[in-house]
Amino acid sequence: MSAPAGGIRFEKVSVAYGQHTVLDQLDLTVAPGEVMALLGPSGSGKTTALRAVAGFVAPASGRVHLGDRDVTDLPPYRRGIGMVVQSYALFPHLRVEENVAFGLRAHKVPRREIPGRVAEALELTGMADYARRHPRELSGGQQQRVAIARALAIKPAVLLLDEPLSALDAQLRSGMLAELARLHRELPDVSMLYVTHDQVEALTLADRIAVMDRARLVDVGTPQELYRRPRTEFTASFVGNANLLPVRVTGAGVSFEGVPLKVATGAAAEGAAATLCVRPHLVGLGEGPNTLRGTLGEVQWRGAVHRLYVDVAGHRVTADLRELKETPALGSDVALHFAPDDAVLLDAGVSHG
Ligand code: ADP
Repeated sequence: MSAPAGGIRFEKVSVAYGQHTVLDQLDLTVAPGEVMALLGPSGSGKTTALRAVAGFVAPASGRVHLGDRDVTDLPPYRRGIGMVVQSYALFPHLRVEENVAFGLRAHKVPRREIPGRVAEALELTGMADYARRHPRELSGGQQQRVAIARALAIKPAVLLLDEPLSALDAQLRSGMLAELARLHRELPDVSMLYVTHDQVEALTLADRIAVMDRARLVDVGTPQELYRRPRTEFTASFVGNANLLPVRVTGAGVSFEGVPLKVATGAAAEGAAATLCVRPHLVGLGEGPNTLRGTLGEVQWRGAVHRLYVDVAGHRVTADLRELKETPALGSDVALHFAPDDAVLLDAGVSHG
C-alpha cells in the first residue's frame, strides 16, 4: 500500500446513539502535518469524533475524508491510521518489540520488513533499550511510549490520540508533552488529532484547537486566537480564565453597571446586550483607562501571582497580579483597571454557533 495522503476532513459528520445525537454536523479540516486538539468537557463528543475517523463508529450522516480518500465506508484496518488511547492497551504477555510488531502484522506489513520497522519506531520514541521487556517492567510513561511506537510503526499519515496523557501523573505528563512535541517535529507530515479536556495540553501542543461543547464544534482557531480573541463565552472560559462582564453597547464603548468603559465594539449595535471578556492577568490594581471600583473579597497567593477577587456591583472580578507591593486589606475599597485593547466584546448569551 502506498502511503496515503495526509489530512483529515469531517464533512457534516453526525453520530447518534439511539435518539441521542452525540456529534452534531461536525465540519472540520485538519491539514497535512497539522496538530489539531479537540478540546471540551467530558461528554462533549470528542472521542466520538475521533472514533468516526478511526472507523470504530459509523456516522448517521456526513462523510469522513483522509487526504483525498472518502473513508466513511472503509473498515478501520484499511484506513492506515495510528491510534493511541489513554489506557496504553498493550498486550501484557508480549515483549515491547512484539507489541510493536503486532500492529505491523495486523496491517499486513511484509514479514521481512517488520524487524526494521520495529527498531525504527522504538528508536523514534526513545524505547530501543527496552525492546525485550514486558509492559509490567515499564513505567506508565514508558508504556505509553510503546503504545505510540506501535501506532507510528505503520507509518500512518494520521495519528489519533485520545487523552494519551491522562493516566500519567503530573510530572510524567509534562515530560510526555515535550516528547509528543518532539515527535511532531520529527514527523512533520503526520496529521495529529488529539482529544483532551486539558487546556494546557491543547495550548502547548496544538497548531489549532477545535472547541467542543454538547456535541457541537463551537470555536476553532490557533491557541493564540482563541485565547486573545475568543468568539464565545464558552471558549473564553474554557481556554484560560476569563472575567465575563454583562454590558450594554453604547455610542462610545460599553456600559457595565452604569460605568462607561472604552472598548472596541466592532459591529455591535448600540443598546445591545453583550459580554465583555477581560483576562485576569490583564487587570491591574489602581485607576487606569477603564476603572472598576469594588470591595476586595479575597486574596490568594499562587506563587507567580497574587489572585485578587473583587466584588464590583455584585459581580466577582478576578485580577492576577505579578507584583503586589502591599496587599490591600480584605473588605477595603479598591480600584481595578484594564486597557481598552485588552477587552474582547462577545455577543451576550451566544455560547453556541
Ligand atoms: P467526550 O470524548 O467528549 O468525553 P464522548 O464522545 O465519549 O465524549 O461521548 C459523547 C456522548 O456520547 C456522551 O454523552 C456519552 O455518554 C455518549 N456515548 C459515547 N459512547 C456511547 C455508546 N457506545 N453508547 C451510547 N452512548 C455513548
